Amino acid sequence: MSTTRSSVTPISENAFDIARRQFDIAADLLHLDSNLRAVLRNCKRELTVNFPVKMDDGSIRVFQGYRVQHNIARGPAKGGLRFHPSVSLDEVRALAMWMTWKCAVVGIPFGGAKGGVICDPKRLSTSELENLTRRFATEISLLIGPDRDIPAPDVNTSPQIMSWFMDTYSMAVGHSVPAVVTGKPQSVGGSEGRMEATARGAVDVIQEFAKQRQFTLNGARVVIQGFGNVGSPLASFLQNLGCRVVGVAEENGAIYNPRGFDASRLRLYKRETGSIVGFNGSDPVYPVGVLELPCDILIPAALEGQITQRNADRIKARLVVEAANGPTTPEADAILGERGVVVVPDILCNAGGVTVSYFEWVQDLQSFFWDEDEVNQRLQKVMSRAYQSVARTADDHNVSLRTAAHILAISRVADATRTRGIFP
Ligand code: GLU
Repeated sequence: MSTTRSSVTPISENAFDIARRQFDIAADLLHLDSNLRAVLRNCKRELTVNFPVKMDDGSIRVFQGYRVQHNIARGPAKGGLRFHPSVSLDEVRALAMWMTWKCAVVGIPFGGAKGGVICDPKRLSTSELENLTRRFATEISLLIGPDRDIPAPDVNTSPQIMSWFMDTYSMAVGHSVPAVVTGKPQSVGGSEGRMEATARGAVDVIQEFAKQRQFTLNGARVVIQGFGNVGSPLASFLQNLGCRVVGVAEENGAIYNPRGFDASRLRLYKRETGSIVGFNGSDPVYPVGVLELPCDILIPAALEGQITQRNADRIKARLVVEAANGPTTPEADAILGERGVVVVPDILCNAGGVTVSYFEWVQDLQSFFWDEDEVNQRLQKVMSRAYQSVARTADDHNVSLRTAAHILAISRVADATRTRGIFP
């Protein structure tokens, strides 16, 4: 299998190690006792599967995939499925842990999980992708269920893939179970507003931040790394607020225009050509360099491990908004902090996706569906409340927004664990 390396491929830092170091910083400040620390530093369940998939040419290929549940103290496990060549067990563990904190930060009643398959979906036909999804769904079904563990989209997984997942699970149990997965198309129980939810939630947080810290959004220059499910709608939302999107990067190239792009035309161009490269009025730039372009707001919206000690001192933005999970290493956090660059952390900033996933799950369980305005209003309420709590915690403890978000999340999960007690 090909493993094309690109600018948005994570570098050598181990994501799980990073997630644990972030945990330790907050746990120290919380004086968390060593027993709870041991429980929360580890993932509760880890399943590795090697499974065969029938390819179009008649051959059989074996893929490796994972489903990891980090913690279920506050509710069923929740988190996306990622299809990418760089997926690894440690990456999935880190992403599962971050899901636990993310759900706790925004106060939705889920624990954290994540799944992934090592594959390059761009090199699979639609039927191969469907075969892979259905077989993977079957393999991990011993952990999955609407009140146990509810997957969702993540990198390279779509509403169609969620629909195949839901159908496979439903066929096995003999009736439709829409609440087993979120991020589905609306025709099979998906929620209004789920597609743009991560981007919308990030904008809600950016607006709260701007209001509180007198950060002017009108005219602010924005650079976005990643132009997929999150980065692409985010560009439009920010443009509507008066921001200028001056740089965009993707796996296969990056573009720059200091005067700013028309986000909706760029999205259309990508839909038509499959890429942002060559967009009218843009200069090509190296994707690696895009993070260092002059701008006010830098938004990593691709993979983890992008802002490290190697490039943190060259970041020109005043504000880093983590639409991706885990884009900044702890070393880079320290460098950015010293330089006065504010980082709005992933577990707060990109929680809009799982929040509307929660709304979707609730709607599926009740078979009662809300209109888009209701979804967006409820989302806005959740995100702004979460931002306020994190900002207050940051002030109280005199720490970064990331550490504050971890303090808040870890104390909520620790509290649930203590209250339930350790059995037997
Ligand atoms: N994959 C998204 C995330 O990382 C959404 C997860 C979900 O909706 O369960 O937050």
